[in-house]
Amino acid sequence: MTEHGSKRIVILGAGVSGLRIALKLENRLGMKKNSIILIDENEYHQYLYRIHEVCNNHYKEKDIIVPLTRIFKGKRVELVKASVTTIDPERKVVKTNEGEQSYDILAITLGSHSTYFGIPGLEENSYTLGSYGQARVIRARIEELFTEAEVTGQPPNILIGGGGFTGVELAGEIADWYPFLCRQHNLEKPKIVLTIVEAMSTILPGWNADLVERAQGVLESLGIELLLNDPITSFEEKRVTLKSGKVLEPDLFVWTGGVRGDPVCTTGFEIMSHRIITDEYNRIPGHEDIFAAGDCACAVDESGRPRSPTAHIAMVQGDLVAHNIYNTLQGSSLKKYKFERAGEVVTLGKTNAVGDLFGIKFTGSLAKFMKKVVHWWYLYSIGGFSLLLGK
Ligand code: NAD
Repeated sequence: MTEHGSKRIVILGAGVSGLRIALKLENRLGMKKNSIILIDENEYHQYLYRIHEVCNNHYKEKDIIVPLTRIFKGKRVELVKASVTTIDPERKVVKTNEGEQSYDILAITLGSHSTYFGIPGLEENSYTLGSYGQARVIRARIEELFTEAEVTGQPPNILIGGGGFTGVELAGEIADWYPFLCRQHNLEKPKIVLTIVEAMSTILPGWNADLVERAQGVLESLGIELLLNDPITSFEEKRVTLKSGKVLEPDLFVWTGGVRGDPVCTTGFEIMSHRIITDEYNRIPGHEDIFAAGDCACAVDESGRPRSPTAHIAMVQGDLVAHNIYNTLQGSSLKKYKFERAGEVVTLGKTNAVGDLFGIKFTGSLAKFMKKVVHWWYLYSIGGFSLLLGK
C-alpha cells in the first residue's frame, strides 16, 4: 500500500535500462511519497557485454555480475526477486511467479531472448548465450566434454551457429581457452579448435569492412574455421544441416543467430522487429503510464529504420525514461528520444579486439583496452568510485 497521493513506479528487469531508471529516479524523486519497485528474476545485475568471458580460463564472477543489494544499498528502491509472467494494463497489474504487483507507472525493460527463426530442432537442442547462467552452463559442458575426451583421445568439436557479435566474442574466448584445456587433459591440440557457421558472406555482417576483415584474420589465427554464406537449416539428432547440404556433427553446438524482445513483454503490445513499438518519448502508444526501453523496445534511427539493440541505446533510453517518468509525475513536458550511434568493440579472446567508437577505429590490444575503459566508465556510472574500485 502507498500513502495517499503517492505513486507506485514498477520497473521490470534490472538490466542496463532498468537499473538506470531506478537509480536516476531514486536520485531525483526524494522518494518520501512515491515507491520504486525493481523486479528481476536474479538477485544480481549482469554485465551482459562480458558474459562470453565466462568461457575462458580464469574468469572471475565479480567481473560479470554485481549483487543488486550492493548497487541499491541505502537507496529507497524495493528489490523484488520474481519472474514476470504477464502484464495486465487494464488492471494496472504485473503478474509474477511470486504474486501480483500493481503499478501507477510501469517501465518495461526485460531485455531480449534468442530467436530461432522457426529452424527445426534449434530451440529444443541448442545451447544459447544470453545470460550469466547460460554462460556457466556452456562452460560446464565444455569442461565435461574435455574430461570425456581423456577416454577417446579426441578433443571436442565445438560449433557456433551465427557469426554476429555474440558468436564472435564467444568463439574468441573458447579458442583462447582451448589450448589450456588440451594441456590440462593431455590431449593434442587440433589445428581447428572450433567452427563458426554464418549465413552471410562475412562474420559481423553489415559492420565496418576493414574491422571485419581484421577480425576474420584474428579468429583464423586462433584456429577458428569460418563457414560463410551457408545458413543452418536444421539441428536434429545431433546433426547440424546447412543450406548447402553439408552436415556437421558437433559435440557442442551453441546458437548465437540473433535475439528478439522478451516474449513476456512483447505479448499484447504492437511490435516491430520483435520489439515493442514506443512513441518518441519511449512510451507505449495508447498507454500513457507504460514506458519501454532497452533491448525489448524498438529503437529507430533518424530515417525511422529499426536499429539493432546495443548497450549504449539501452543506457540512453534508460536515462530518457527516468527523465520522462519524473516529468510525468511533475506534470511537465516529456523529452524525445534521439538516436545516437556510439559504435561497438568486439573482443577476440583475452588480448585482442576490434572496435569503432565515435567514428574512431581501434584494433589489437588498444581496442581491448578501450573495452575496459568503457566497462570502467559503466561501473562508475552505476556505482560510483566504490564499485569501480571494487570496494
Ligand atoms: P546478431 O543478430 O547481431 O547476429 C546473429 C548472426 O547470426 C548474424 O550474423 C546472422 O547473419 C547469423 N545467422 C542468422 N541466422 C543464421 C542461420 N540460420 N545460420 C547461420 N547464421 C545465421 O545477434 P547477436 O550476435 O546475438 O547480437 C545481438 C545484439 O547484441 C546485436 O544488436 C549486437 O549489437 C549486440 N551485441 C553487441 C556486442 C558488442 O558490442 N560487443 C556483443 C554482443 C551483442
